[in-house]
Amino acid sequence: MDPFEHASIPTLAYLAISNEPTWGGALALILGALFPDLDAFCREHRSYLHSLLFALPVFFLAYLPGNPYALLFSLGWLSHLFLDFFTGVIPPVYPLSRRGWGISITARGGPSGAGLSIRIIEHYPDPRHEYRIEVGGSVALAILAITALIIRLH
Ligand SMILES: [Zn+2]
Repeated sequence: MDPFEHASIPTLAYLAISNEPTWGGALALILGALFPDLDAFCREHRSYLHSLLFALPVFFLAYLPGNPYALLFSLGWLSHLFLDFFTGVIPPVYPLSRRGWGISITARGGPSGAGLSIRIIEHYPDPRHEYRIEVGGSVALAILAITALIIRLH
């Protein structure tokens, strides 16, 4: 999943769920949602910052003092792991184990009918490499999220 999707999806959820969304809250959420992909600069992508061993303690630490920005940052972080779970694997206890899990959902359709395939996938984090990804649809989603932010928060 690319950064536009990671930022846009939780932002739209925040705008839909929050009674009083703010620019600061949206910024904290977006920064948290993008933060785990700093792993891309480590030896392995989807490693330390994609591990629940780091994300969950940060969430509980952020939840206790009641700082809304820290909580939104950690919720953005957890949303990143949730979304990555559906587009590859996350290693839940990295570095204790490098093994990761995810869900692969494939839809097909055509003259012979339609179907949906759901399967659990398991492998190790990808080694660091250069990324080249098509982001056209994600930019459209980001424009929608920015428009919703402007309409809801002006
Ligand atoms: Zn990621």
